[in-house]
Amino acid sequence: MSYSLPEFLAHAIAMEEEAAERYLELADMMEAHRNDDVSALFRDMHRFSLMHRDAIRARVGAIELPQLKSWEYRWRTPPEMGDEDAFDTQLDAYHALSYARENETRAMQYYRTVAEDASDAEVKRLAGEFAAEEEEHVAALDKWLERTHRPSETWAQDPAQRA
Ligand code: ZN
Repeated sequence: MSYSLPEFLAHAIAMEEEAAERYLELADMMEAHRNDDVSALFRDMHRFSLMHRDAIRARVGAIELPQLKSWEYRWRTPPEMGDEDAFDTQLDAYHALSYARENETRAMQYYRTVAEDASDAEVKRLAGEFAAEEEEHVAALDKWLERTHRPSETWAQDPAQRA
């Protein structure tokens, strides 16, 4: 689909706000796990999301944005969890990072698709720019995942392994 500039900006703001909220939750969760490094990473991602949102708002200026009734780019909950406890406090660093990576990848793909389909030159330019930013986020999370211990598959069933 091809967005008008106001439609695109409204979606981009909603996506950054969603990401900011989820990163804040993830940061708190990692803090509860006493994983200060990953918590600090998520706090940075939270801040970047808010900064990006504010930059988009500045770009909006006097443009009137449409109300988004519903949209499909909310963060997905991890597949192993129900909707109710999307942020189960048992989520370990590895799974928290994978979860963030999956959602960043979806954001990147979303912006790429918008850029490809855009008939509006400014939408194409901005979406391309945002896709590149998301690509950097995915790459940053990949680096973290490489050096984060991956819990065994039996971890969830074996409370003794959590200690
Ligand atoms: Zn991102």
